[in-house]
Formats: sequence, C-alpha cells, structure tokens
Amino acid sequence: MKRICVYCGSNSGCRPDYLAAAGQLGKTLAEEKLELVYGGASIGLMGAVADAALQAGGKVIGIIPHHLKNEVAHRRLTELHVVDNMHQRKKMMLDYADGMIALPGGFGTLEEIFEAVTWGQLRLHRKPCGLLNVAGYYDQLLAFLAHAAAEKFIRREYLALLPAADTPMELLARFRRFQPPTGTKWAATESGRK
Ligand code: AMP
Repeated sequence: MKRICVYCGSNSGCRPDYLAAAGQLGKTLAEEKLELVYGGASIGLMGAVADAALQAGGKVIGIIPHHLKNEVAHRRLTELHVVDNMHQRKKMMLDYADGMIALPGGFGTLEEIFEAVTWGQLRLHRKPCGLLNVAGYYDQLLAFLAHAAAEKFIRREYLALLPAADTPMELLARFRRFQPPTGTKWAATESGRK
C-alpha cells in the first residue's frame, strides 16, 4: 500500500473526539509512509487530517472540483488536482488510492465510502474499505447494515467489505490482510434463487 484515501466531514462535528481522530489518522498515515489522498479542502475534519499528515512530514494529494476550489481549497498541499466535477473527483480519488477510509462525516462522506464499497462488490476494483468508528459514530449504521444483510439485500459475507475499527492502526492491519471477495454480489433469496 502506498496511498490511502480518506473521506470525512467538511464539518468537524460536535465532539472534540472527531477532530482528534482526524489528526491521529493524518499523523499515523505519515508515520506509516502512506500518502494521503482526500477531497482537498481546508475545512472541518478534511482540513484536520491533511494538516496533521503534513505536519508529520507526510505527502498529501488533494482532489477538488473547480466549483469548490476558491471557496475551500487547502493551499499548502503536496499536490492539488483541480477537476471538472464531483464524479471525476471521486474516480480520481479511488484510482489514486490503495485503500479507502471513512472518518465521521455527513452525506458526502457516506456517499463516497458507499460508492467505493459498491464498486468493490462489483469487482471494479480490489481495494479495501473501512470505517473509523470514532466515539461509536457509525454504530447505528453498522446495525442498519446487519439489518440489510438479515433482510437479504446484502450478502452477509460482504459485510466484511466495510469493516469498522476504533484506531487507524487496527484498520490498516485489516487492509494489509484484505482478500477481495469472490462470487457474485447477489444474495441468495429464501426461495434459493441467486
Ligand atoms: P460531508 O461528509 O457531507 O461533509 O462531505 C465531505 C465529503 O464529501 C469529503 O470527503 C469530500 O470529498 C466531499 N465534500 C463535500 N463537501 C465538500 C466541500 N465543501 N469541500 C470539499 N469537499 C467536500
């Protein structure tokens, strides 16, 4: 693994734990000699993860669409790529990275990590994804995904495509052991059809 993509809130959330976790993740990536790929903004958890990685001597690659550049772009990154739109940005973030991590965040973060997992499930890539479950932020989401598996909209074994961990090192260890899925994404139904 050379680069890790981090999806996270453009807000900071209401607990100091979130900013602290973003800082810890940025620092850990730099210490592990992993480059950070992210959305290129200076605000919220996005800014915090980038600042911490840079401060620890890491490389940070930001990818931002034109329409957000003047408003929120981070000005001190190792590389800042400006692309035409959000679709290009997500594709480039995923292409650049060897694994994708979601810190706490809102719609943007959820959309990005779910797209990455969905594409992995369809074997459009073979890269690990994971959630950093800071202060239990993702507990209800994980419970919902278990429900989706119980209702047979997600194959139970595919829940492993989105593991959750409490610390960056734990998640990176899982990434290093990651085995891409085999079989198809379609869960068996009660009638036995695939
Ligand atoms: P959200 O979780 O809704 O705050 O969205 C954050 C995620 O979506 C980040 O990982 C970004 O890639 C993208 N994003 C959403 N809003 C912005 C913004 N104002 N500036 C930069 N990236 C953003």
